[in-house]
Amino acid sequence: MSNQPDEKGFYGAFGGAYIPEILHENVENLKKAFYAARKDQSFNEEYAALLKQYVGRPSPLYYASRLSAAYGTHIYLKREDLNHTGSHKINNALGQILLAQRMGMTRIIAETGAGQHGVATATACALMGLECVVFMGKTDVERQYLNVQKMRMLGARVEAVTSGNRTLKDATNEAIRYWCSNPDTFYIIGSTVGPHPYPEMVAFFQSVISAEIKQQLEEQTGRSYPDALIACVGGGSNAMGTFYHYIDNTKVQLIAAEAGGKGIDTGETAATLHVGTPGIIHGFKTLLMQDADGQITEPYSISAGLDYPGVGPAHAHFYQTGRSRVYAITDDEALEAALELTRLEGIIPAIESAHALAVLKKEDFAQDDLVVLTVSGRGDKDMDTFIDYFTTKQDF
Ligand SMILES: *Cc1c(COP(=O)(O)O)cnc(C)c1O
Repeated sequence: MSNQPDEKGFYGAFGGAYIPEILHENVENLKKAFYAARKDQSFNEEYAALLKQYVGRPSPLYYASRLSAAYGTHIYLKREDLNHTGSHKINNALGQILLAQRMGMTRIIAETGAGQHGVATATACALMGLECVVFMGKTDVERQYLNVQKMRMLGARVEAVTSGNRTLKDATNEAIRYWCSNPDTFYIIGSTVGPHPYPEMVAFFQSVISAEIKQQLEEQTGRSYPDALIACVGGGSNAMGTFYHYIDNTKVQLIAAEAGGKGIDTGETAATLHVGTPGIIHGFKTLLMQDADGQITEPYSISAGLDYPGVGPAHAHFYQTGRSRVYAITDDEALEAALELTRLEGIIPAIESAHALAVLKKEDFAQDDLVVLTVSGRGDKDMDTFIDYFTTKQDF
């Protein structure tokens, strides 16, 4: 098992590039530019300097002692929530903006769900002085208003998309449509999804997460690998970054948490790996939530960042081959896990990350196991959701 797809962009049965002819040249140019940049020392140095001086990397690997005591094991939190702009998304947005600059492209488009990728992209565009348009479902515009305001302040134009159920899938459709009619724009995709080479490229830009874990774990424990890695999966970029340098080390269990919504049997879910079947969406083959006629089923999750009917091809492959173990975490389980982390460690996580935290209740780790869990983002954007939920459930 490898962190690299084959030359056509397939991870096992999943991936590839299913794109309209009009985008062919565009995607070929991107592939060439990415492969050249990846090997180029000056590109890597420029990227590393931005991650250090602008994002604030390395993000800490924090030993959560009260959480560890509560679960009778050793839990380390990889703190992507402490990055500039509040999540792991900035790692990828900066990598792609440097690539766009190298390719001489000045107009940037992006799609966003929770708004974290939109904010990261708008930030990168402000930093580089580039024009930015962000497509976002109207439902998400309403439930993630703070991020919308941030994007506007950063100078981006936010396009509220009114098709479908007005969430991430619809925003992505609209971004692809715009890209087809404006092939001179650079499309910064926010997760390990889309046509080859995007999943491979986003994984590369997020791989800094596991590169740091390796070094930090060695420094803190004398061992460079954990017994288990846990991360939430929407499209799969923070999980792919967390797993990247450990995928071929079978001593390391890879555990993913997807959004179960109200439960995988309720029809109100975004648990793609549990309920999906092979299909093509947004330019790649993956496990997809669809009906018997191949119509995409509307996904549901309380978390806007996990509300996607597909999943990155690498995760479909890891799941199908048994390399990863995947839990579908319900809205309730995630919110309770968010409150637990807040009360035990003083860290308010994003609802997306709280799905990963809820895995701790499902697993039975040994006393001396080393568990690394990625906190993909901070909970500031989710405060309204937390308050609504907890004031109806308990004394809060
Ligand atoms: C976008 C987002 C996710 C989900 O995206 P992945 O590509 O699966 O990582 C998870 N957590 C946070 C905080 C996000 O903003």
